[in-house]
Amino acid sequence: MIEKDLVILGTGGAGMAASIYALRYRIDHVLLGDLPGGTLTTANMVENYPGYKSILGPELAMKFQEHVEYLGGKITLERVSSLQKEGDYFLITTDKETYKAKTVIYTLGSHHRHLGVKGEKELEGRGVSYCATCDGAFFRNKTVAVIGGGDSAATGVLVLGNIAAKTYMIHRGPELRTEPIWIEQIKANSNVEIVLNTNVTEIVGSTKVEKILLDNPLHGSFELAVDGVFVEIGLNPNSEMAQQIGVATDKTGYIIVKEDMSTNIPGFYAAGDVTTGSSYFRQLVTAASEGVIATYNVYKYLKGKK
Ligand code: NDP
Repeated sequence: MIEKDLVILGTGGAGMAASIYALRYRIDHVLLGDLPGGTLTTANMVENYPGYKSILGPELAMKFQEHVEYLGGKITLERVSSLQKEGDYFLITTDKETYKAKTVIYTLGSHHRHLGVKGEKELEGRGVSYCATCDGAFFRNKTVAVIGGGDSAATGVLVLGNIAAKTYMIHRGPELRTEPIWIEQIKANSNVEIVLNTNVTEIVGSTKVEKILLDNPLHGSFELAVDGVFVEIGLNPNSEMAQQIGVATDKTGYIIVKEDMSTNIPGFYAAGDVTTGSSYFRQLVTAASEGVIATYNVYKYLKGKK
């Protein structure tokens, strides 16, 4: 068993930023995760992280990692399998090791929401995808549909708009609710068609996606022939392990954090997409900011204990 003052769970933007500050504050810690960069590795162009006008998500993730390493830290690539509370300590078990920690910063992010319609599960990997950046290249000169009206859907459309021959952006609401700058870019692309007030009711195909069935309250049911369906309808928080030790969440599972990123459990902090922090505005810049706020308050907490 390895004893640490702090264990940071998660190696996305929040976790790596937390580790950078932990290194600077000389906190004895380990940064644990199985995907350096987390969600950032699936982002295409990041154009809203201050200091970088335009940079590929994986490249920016690499820069975070290099910053950790420059300060003498490292990412410990281990998959966390359980989290327990034992007295004042936290026990974190991975596929390789057990850690005993005085404090935890939990930054395990979120996972993609599913539509739950017929054909979605059956055709996953055969035309149904949850990551335009990862799978977009398979649809060169083809026809695709991106489902959703938020930032994920918009970034997916911006990727696919330059690869596919035709991209439908299908949103159930009356207007897109992504950044206005992205709406302008989407509308400027003649390969993209925005379909509003429309729900997908089924994804159809025998060995691969062939078409989608749709429903619009005004025009009734209709279908579109597509080769690919990108489901970009939001995220669900990866908070199960925290909930198991009694960390409080809101009704949708996001960890409730105070301004200092502490939770209802002393010594247990959380940051990034898994929390209610930053007014639910889930950006890399807010995740990184929450990570460093968490570390600063872990530092004060540990000093208070000494
Ligand atoms: P959001 O929750 O912001 O948006 C989800 C979209 O999917 C909404 O338009 C929603 O519709 C729609 N939707 C949800 N459920 C269904 C359903 N069952 N059927 C059809 N449509 C559905 O999620 P995102 O993944 O877009 O973004 C998550 C977070 O990540 C946000 O905070 C976002 O800002 C951030 N992000 C930031 C990026 C960046 O580079 N700045 C890039 C990507 C994400 P409705 O509007 O009707 O609820």
